[in-house]
Parts: sequence; structure tokens; C-alpha cells
Amino acid sequence: SSNQTEMAVVLVTGGRGLVGKAIEHIINTEPIGSKFGKLPNETWVFVGSSEADLRDPEQTCKLYEKYKPTHVIHLAALVGGVYRNMKYKLTFLRDNILINDNILHTAYTHKTVKVVSCLSTCIFPDDIEYPLDESKLHGGLPHSSNFGYAHAKRMVDVQNRAYKEEFGCNFTAAIPTSVFGPHDNHDLENAHVIPALMHRCYLAKKNGTPFVVGGSGRPLRQFIFSWDLAKLFIWMLRNHDDVEPIILSVAEEEEMSVKEIADAIVKAMGFEGEYSFDTTRSDGQFRKPASNKRLLELIGGFEFTPFEQALDLSVKWFMENYETART
Ligand code: NDP
Repeated sequence: SSNQTEMAVVLVTGGRGLVGKAIEHIINTEPIGSKFGKLPNETWVFVGSSEADLRDPEQTCKLYEKYKPTHVIHLAALVGGVYRNMKYKLTFLRDNILINDNILHTAYTHKTVKVVSCLSTCIFPDDIEYPLDESKLHGGLPHSSNFGYAHAKRMVDVQNRAYKEEFGCNFTAAIPTSVFGPHDNHDLENAHVIPALMHRCYLAKKNGTPFVVGGSGRPLRQFIFSWDLAKLFIWMLRNHDDVEPIILSVAEEEEMSVKEIADAIVKAMGFEGEYSFDTTRSDGQFRKPASNKRLLELIGGFEFTPFEQALDLSVKWFMENYETART
């Protein structure tokens, strides 16, 4: 991985999304040469889909030839909520297979030193004992709702191992739990629970209407703040020279109920209107905790941003950027 003397070019695919923007923020704001800051020998390049459609092998190749990355953080993916995942299974499967295969194979042919790709805890087997840990990734079928996306993502781990065994490549993967932060997708139909609730509360405040949260508010979920996740990606890029993937998450004890999240949003937004839970709506799974034991063992301690502080910051960003945010 990158050391202080050789020049390193780090290419971040999906660099204009939620996670990409967070890595860019950390790289640009942490002191140069510090643990998570830019190293003097590094150049960081963040690319979105307008620079190259990574489903296309030629465009991917041109991108590698333009920037000559020594390291890649691969975040680009076709992502979407449950409805789109259910409706476009083949598209989610095929676009992601193409993107991932192009990134990994071009990294191999262009002698890229290292690739850290991004999986997700939502691709784990549906019928599995909790907590999730890295050994359970291929231990059963994913939930049918994201069958295409999950299988494509799991193949990255399979490919990483095969590239290592046949060619000695240093490819690995991060497995984040649900992420939130500035530059999130707040689309009311397709967003994850935190950005969706923020948007609903925002509209309730603006329009003087009630803020209604779907379900009982009791289900528990684990979240990671995008700026914390960014630091962990940077740490993995520099320190984790092993194909074994790592779950990037807060501890199991840090699960939050949907009600706690909604309460925190109400507080951060200063919403004073009517606020209730629509218990006729389904709750989904009660909890699906993931273990961060491997992460903590390897990194030897990490200070996660307290949830309320991270949420406050994300709410402020959303309110200040409502006109340009993805809604
Ligand atoms: P975003 O939707 O914010 O970002 C996805 C990025 O992928 C965008 O920058 C988009 O580019 C790019 N992209 C999509 N299709 C293509 C394509 N054909 N060619 C090139 N680029 C493409 O998602 P996140 O930041 O949330 O996700 C980043 C990674 O994290 C993904 O791999 C996702 O699976 C994973 N993840 C996310 C979680 C979450 O809670 N958000 C949880 C766990 C994992 P552009 O915007 O320029 O079109």
C-alpha cells in the first residue's frame, strides 16, 4: 500500500456520491500527513459517472490511462431502494457485475497496486444467525428483494480471492452498515430511513403538516456516519493488505431505534408540529445487527462520532442545501 516515498494516485470511483464526498471531505480537512489526511506523496482523484460509464470496458480503460491510479477506492454502484431493486433485478445484477468486473480487471491489467471495493451488510444471507460477521457473507441466499444487487456485490469478494490466488493481486473489500451524512440521497420513495425521515420532517415543518413515521418506531438499526466511514476506508487503503473483507460499523450496542432517530431529527430540525407513528405500516425486520469485532481488533480502537452530533451536522447540511440535494 502507499508509503511516504513513492508517488501514489488514489482514484475514487463513485466519488460524487454520499461516501465519495465524505472521503473527499476528510482528505481535504484532516492535517496533511496525519493518520487520515492526505500524504505528501498522494494525489486523490474523485470521479462520477459523467467522467466514465464504468459499465463500459473501454471507458474504464480510458479512465485508468488518464489518471494512472496506483490505488483505487471503488464505490461506484447502481444503488436504490427496495422498490427499484425489486422491479429491476436483472439491471441491478448486470450493471453492478459489469462495473465491478471492469474496475477489477482493468486494475489487474494496469498493475494497480491495490483496490478496496465496497460491499454492504444488506447483501448478507436473509436466513442467518445474528450478529452478522464476515464469515457469514456467502452462507445462504440474500433477501429476495435485493437479489440482483446482493449477488453482484458478493461476486466482488469472490473475484478478490480469485485475483489474489491466480495473480497475487492486493484486492479487498469494506462492508459498511447503513450510511448517512451530507450529500445523501433524500428521495422520498427510494432513500434509506435517515435521509427519508429528514426529508419528511423538513416538509412537515415547511408546510405545517404532521410528521408521520411509518411503522411502530421500535425496529433497531445500525448506522455509520459517512465521515467516520471515510476515515475507515482511508485506514483500510493504507493498512489492510489482506483479501479478507471488514465490516465497517459502530458496535452492536450502538443500535438505534427508528423512534430514537425520528426524535433526534425532530430536535435537530426544531420541528414543533404534530408527530406520530403510523402503526398500520409494516416494520420490516426487528433487528439485523452486525459485529465490528474484526475492525476493532485490526484498527486497535476508533472514535466514532456521537450519533446526535453526526445527525445534527447532516440535518444542517440538508437544510442548507435543500435546493441542490438529491430529493
Ligand atoms: P451514491 O448513490 O451516493 O453514489 C453512487 C455513485 O456511483 C455515484 O457517484 C454514481 O455516480 C456512481 N455510479 C453509479 N453508476 C455508475 C456507472 N455506471 N459508472 C460510473 N459511476 C457510476 O451511493 P453511496 O455513496 O451511498 O454508495 C457508495 C457505495 O457504498 C456503493 O458501492 C454502495 O453499494 C455502498 N453502500 C452504501 C450504503 C448506504 O447506506 N448508502 C450502505 C452500504 C454500502 P454519479 O453520481 O456521478 O452518477
